[in-house]
Amino acid sequence: DVTLRYIDHTSSELSMIGSAYNLTRVRQLEQMQRDFVGNVSHELKTPVTSLIGFTETLLDGAMEDKELTRQFLEIMQRDAKRLEHLIQEILQLSRGRDTYEGENQEINLKNFLEDLTKSYISQIQEKELQVEISSTSTSKPCFSTKPALFQPIVKNLFENAIQYSKEKGKIELHFSIDETSLTLSIKDNGIGIDLENQKRIFERFYRVDKARTRYSGGTGLGLSIVKNYVDLLGGTIELNSQVGVGTEFVVKL
Ligand code: ADP
Repeated sequence: DVTLRYIDHTSSELSMIGSAYNLTRVRQLEQMQRDFVGNVSHELKTPVTSLIGFTETLLDGAMEDKELTRQFLEIMQRDAKRLEHLIQEILQLSRGRDTYEGENQEINLKNFLEDLTKSYISQIQEKELQVEISSTSTSKPCFSTKPALFQPIVKNLFENAIQYSKEKGKIELHFSIDETSLTLSIKDNGIGIDLENQKRIFERFYRVDKARTRYSGGTGLGLSIVKNYVDLLGGTIELNSQVGVGTEFVVKL
């Protein structure tokens, strides 16, 4: 009898704690959603306002000046590209939330990383970067995973490595595969991230230096997509970084 009453007491208390916890969590999620919508609206509005402004100026007569028209069109093209990039990333984020997974497929890591490097060749050459691909696997460089999630992870990390590298910097892509897991390291010797910011860079829209990264076309969504997809694949991501020395992201699946 005593035991039964004890159990009753505990379970009702537990369920009270449970519902209080749920309520707090629901409120937190609602707040996060509001912040997200606010951020998205702000980020979308900036380039749209700029596009409308330049279109109006052109229509109001600036079009007569050929050189000015060219300058304006270049800015408009940059804004339109920024919008395209942003929309693409927002779609990727929502895809992650719907737990979209797709089918498992075998990926040849060596080929994949070589193709990825080739697709960024103009940025790599422009900054005179050196990209090194290496592996310590003894077996075939193949790993079975969901490409729809895996590819954007590596692409985003590689894009950042290029973006935050200094001129003539070096990017090292290293992987090892065994029967059950893949470890992939993406390492640069670029600007690095200080400890305070390391805690926050996986948050949506978080950028270390807003003005600078906005200028370079960043949205602050890349790493939150990466984190989301790594979670969906049941993996982990680790960050080692030091200001002025460089940054390494290690993905384990
Ligand atoms: P962004 O679109 O701004 O690159 P991310 O979510 O991909 O957004 O990254 C968030 C921030 O983390 C970046 O703005 C940058 O400040 C920092 N960051 C990411 N990767 C690196 C890196 N390899 N080296 C230095 N800083 C980085």
